[in-house]
This record gives sequence, C-alpha cells and structure tokens, in this order.
Amino acid sequence: MIAERPQELWFEPNREERQVIGTLRDFLQAEVAPTAALRDESGDFPFEIVKKLGEMGVMGAQVPEQYGGAGLSTRMFARIIEEIATVDGSLALTVASHNSLCTGHILLAGSEEQKKRFLPRLASGEVLGAWGLTEPGSGSDAAALQSRAEETPEGWVLNGSKQFITQGSVAGVYVVNARTDPAPSPDKKHLGISALVFEGPIPGLRIGRKEKKLGLNASDTAQLIFEDLILPKEALLGERGKGFYDVMKVLEGGRIGIAAMAVGLGRAALEFAAKYALEREQFGRPIAEFQAISHKLADMATQLEAARLLYLKAAELRDAGKPYGYAAAQAKLFASEVGVQACDEAIQVLGGYGYIKEYPVERYWRDARLTRIGEGASEVLRVIIAKHLLAQFR
Ligand SMILES: Cc1cc2nc3c(=O)[nH]c(=O)nc-3n(C[C@H](O)[C@H](O)[C@H](O)COP(=O)(O)OP(=O)(O)OC[C@H]3O[C@@H](n4cnc5c(N)ncnc54)[C@H](O)[C@@H]3O)c2cc1C
Repeated sequence: MIAERPQELWFEPNREERQVIGTLRDFLQAEVAPTAALRDESGDFPFEIVKKLGEMGVMGAQVPEQYGGAGLSTRMFARIIEEIATVDGSLALTVASHNSLCTGHILLAGSEEQKKRFLPRLASGEVLGAWGLTEPGSGSDAAALQSRAEETPEGWVLNGSKQFITQGSVAGVYVVNARTDPAPSPDKKHLGISALVFEGPIPGLRIGRKEKKLGLNASDTAQLIFEDLILPKEALLGERGKGFYDVMKVLEGGRIGIAAMAVGLGRAALEFAAKYALEREQFGRPIAEFQAISHKLADMATQLEAARLLYLKAAELRDAGKPYGYAAAQAKLFASEVGVQACDEAIQVLGGYGYIKEYPVERYWRDARLTRIGEGASEVLRVIIAKHLLAQFR
C-alpha cells in the first residue's frame, strides 16, 4: 500500500480558529493539564484557572463586546469547549454551563438593563453563573417543576428547590425557572413558567447538599433551596409565563457545548490510547500491530470526527440564525454516545492499566459519562429527533 502524506488528524478548515485554539492549548497544557488529575481526586474548584480564563475572554465567549464579552461565534465557542475537555472534563462543564445556560439565558431573554447589570461580571469571570431547571421530582419532564414564585406587593416570593445545579455553591448569579402562574390545563403545563435572575448570596437562598459524583469531580454540583426568597419585580427574566420556550432554546444551545465536550474527552482518550498502543508490547510486538487494536482506534477516530462535524453543523446553523434544534439534538446524541464509547475502548486498549488511576483514561470515561445524561438524556433526544423527523412526513 502506498503511504499517504501525513494529514491533520482533526479537520481544521478555519485559520482564525486555529490561532485561538493554539493560544488556548498552550495555556491548558501549562496551567490546567498538570493538575487536572489532582483536582479530580480532591474535588477542589479551580477558581484561579476560571479567573485566568475570564481574562482570556473564555467566560464570556459569546457575550457581545459591548457587555464585556469576546463576541465569538457558537462554532468558536464549541471548539473552545472541545479543547478544554481534552485536558479537564470538569473545567469544560464549568465553562460550558456558565456560558450556555446562565449567561446564555440572560443574553437570550434579558432586558437591556439586566444585560448591563449581569453580563460584564459574568463575562469577565468575576462571578460564575448557575442555572436552575431540574428539581428532585422533575428532570426530563422539566415542565413538571414545582418551585413557585408568587407575585406580592414586596416582589416575587420564591419557594422550592433545585437539584444537581452546576456551580450551585460557587455562583454569584443565578437564573432560576419557577412556576409563576397556574398551567391552563394538564397538557399545557409548560405555560405559566417564568425565569428569575438574581445575585447570591441572598437571604432565602440556602445551598443544600453538594453532590459526590462518578466523575467531573472538580465541577460543582449542588442543591438550591428557596425559602421565602424575596426578589424585586425586575428579577423577571423574559416574558412572564412563557419562560419554558426560552428554557428550550437555552438547552438547544447548551447541547452544542455538551457535544463538543464529549468529542474532546473522546479525543483525549483516543490520542492517549494510540500512543500507548505503539509503545506497549505483547507477544513480541507493539499491540498497535494487532488488527483488533488498530481497528478500535480507526473506529474511534472516525466516529469522533463525524461527531465533531455534527456539532460544527449545529453551531454554524445557530450562527447563521437558522433553526438548529434538530441538528443540536443529533450532535449531542451522537457525540455523547461515541465519546463515551471512545473512552471505554481506550480503557480496553490499555487493558489493566486503563482501569487504574495512574493513567487518565478512566477519568475521561467517568467525565464523559455525564454527557449522555445532562441537557437532554439520549433517550429524550431520540424522542426530539424523531418528532422533528416525523413532522416532515405527516
Ligand atoms: C453533574 C450534573 C450536572 C447537572 N447540571 C445541571 C444544571 O446546571 N442545571 C439543571 O437544571 N440541571 C442540571 N443537571 C440535571 C440534568 O439535566 C438531569 O439529570 C437530566 O435532565 C435528567 O433528569 P433526571 O436525572 O431527573 O432523570 P429522569 O428524567 O428521571 O430520567 C431517568 C431515565 O428515564 C429516561 N426518560 C425520561 N423520560 C423519558 C421519555 N419521555 N422517553 C424515554 N426515556 C425517558 C431518561 O432518558 C433516563 O434514562 C445536572 C445533572 C448532573 C448529573
């Protein structure tokens, strides 16, 4: 067989992207990679790293420059998340959720005053953002949420709780989705939900249990408890009672970031496994020479590249102002499934060494596993994709 000239392993058509990613990669290698495994063990939150990422524009990646952000495209943002995930899954989730969920919701639905008040501090990384949708009794069925915000002469009075909130205990800005009005009927429970935005700490907001997790240990996950939390009328974010439409849009955007995170973790696993397979010898030769091993690597590379093209497509549709919910659901479904699979196969390539903590691939697998669950579990994404698809043929 004629040897091909070496090609780039990952398709990088865009020069500007290569430059931004190159600078970020240098920072990640110098300041994040050496301590990522330690943070996975300790669960310490990387405040200093977040601050530096803020200075680099990463914490306000898609916030327009007029509000102190970097004004980057969704495509560029997603590439940034992929790159961070190749060294630290926890940090990738922190950056993705801060940007896409809390900040993204304010960008989408905030008044000019709310944008001016909250976005500059979020974009600089001075404060972190948390976004509360999930509750103990409502996950995939998010419209079944029970938290209530009652309008009184003193303002909104918020009661209830939120479950599994990323940045829950470290945030300075919270966006919380709650019921402000009764649903008109049981099949229209998505109506009557509104979002509220406020700064913390604040009386009436209690941080509940900090979760111990399978992975993503240096990403903060906590319960939020609201006990007669009083907020001014101006805390309403977006249109009263129509907040669930914004929630769906926020999640659609978030899925692109989670897809990118899954690709990044899968890539890290693949690259580690490929190097290992060339070095590890059994039966007198490198295990990479066994077809069973090299074909695993070939499948991982092909699937991850396909996943990457899917999330880039969704990002480009979003940047072009076109509908992208279907593409984002496909990207997140496929990327999370093949990302986890790549991490799993990397463990297999390393054999027993893949299972022990001295090598990073078990961490990649534990971190990647969340991507099949958060911001639309795979089963729910299939429901969404099928709905879009079948609507074309009805
Ligand atoms: C680390 C972590 C961070 C998170 N961060 C946040 C955050 O910042 N903010 C936030 O609001 N939430 C957050 N979440 C919550 C996350 O979004 C939910 O866990 C997720 O939406 C699933 O909800 P659930 O856990 O209640 O599972 P359930 O909804 O109870 O689902 C259980 C199973 O049933 C399946 N299922 C449910 N409905 C259907 C259906 N209609 N058809 C087929 N299968 C179905 C699911 O796919 C899943 O396999 C986080 C979760 C974790 C673990």
